[in-house]
Amino acid sequence: MKKTIISDMTEGIDPAGIELGGKILREGGLVAFPTETVYGLGGNALDADASRKIYEAKGRPSDNPLIVHICEISALEKITESVPETARRLADAFWPGPMTLIFRKSDAVPDSTTGGLDTVAVRFPDHPAALALIRAAGGYVAAPSANTSGRPSPTQASHVWEDLQGKIDMIIDGGEVGIGIESTIVDLTEETPVILRPGYITREMLEKTIGHVEMDRSLISDDSAVRPRAPGMKYRHYAPQAPLLIVEGDETAVRERIRALVREAAAQGKRAGVIATDESADCYGEGIVRSAGTRADEATVAAHLYAILREFDSLGVDVIYSEAFDTAGIGQAVMNRLMKAAGHRVIDAGKEASED
Ligand code: AMP
Ligand code: MG
Repeated sequence: MKKTIISDMTEGIDPAGIELGGKILREGGLVAFPTETVYGLGGNALDADASRKIYEAKGRPSDNPLIVHICEISALEKITESVPETARRLADAFWPGPMTLIFRKSDAVPDSTTGGLDTVAVRFPDHPAALALIRAAGGYVAAPSANTSGRPSPTQASHVWEDLQGKIDMIIDGGEVGIGIESTIVDLTEETPVILRPGYITREMLEKTIGHVEMDRSLISDDSAVRPRAPGMKYRHYAPQAPLLIVEGDETAVRERIRALVREAAAQGKRAGVIATDESADCYGEGIVRSAGTRADEATVAAHLYAILREFDSLGVDVIYSEAFDTAGIGQAVMNRLMKAAGHRVIDAGKEASED
């Protein structure tokens, strides 16, 4: 077991903590840090051994490539083969920010960082502690989400501690993150830009800057045989310990069905968790009810979803029912994560229970 140091930066950057974190990273160690999306588990992206340590600490399959975090756009030159014009425009519009771009990689990036691919994913995060740490580390920090592989991504330092204490050298505590779900991933290595993972930056936002953008077929197809182009998207992810079922349909029908399901669970001696909204939370008498946020602004749901899934784990509920969310704007990213967490189990509230 390693001793995991915690550096408190909830009130602002602590220069001594950043210096220590930078030194640990330069020497090949691992430091978890806050970003505006979720907490990342950082290692030196140009050091093959450091990347291998990241996979080991997370229990992450080694074919699931890491995102390289940079703190200035000029850092692209060293790690990519070339920077297409679309990338320059997107970087100008959305970096620093919750968008990851995929490029052809240069030889400076070891295969262990990219899971053996000849492409590299790069992000310039918008968080002062992250940027200071990346700079102190030498400019290139590989950082997947700082959770044990398969668990919900961490949105506060205590989640990182829960999963990785004793396995990593340091955690920088920056308090709760703002966005709460991972970055939008855009592949720029083919002629047409393709979204491989939806996030806070939506297709509409990207298209305003660079014109037509496609969605990876696996994101829009119901056929589970369609393989996602982002290797990590094929894995079960974000999953709570209890089975999670999503109930979709007309608002009133959804509420009635969840109430019935919670009662049924209780009759079998099971404790049910309910993922509700500010609008609906009061209508569920039974069950352990948590509001993820308001339907008027689904970014609030994105911000709380993972913490609620983790809370249900720690409460040891037997089953979780979640309302479905609209898929406009950031709602698409929310439903993408929720569907993965649920293993795509959806109940249609409009149909009789016996048909489920
Ligand atoms: P995480 O860092 O945990 O948010 O996961 C990173 C995501 O980025 C995973 O889904 C990876 O499969 C994806 N990714 C990273 N690098 C590449 C790449 N070169 N090509 C396609 N997807 C990538
Ligand atoms: Mg992850």
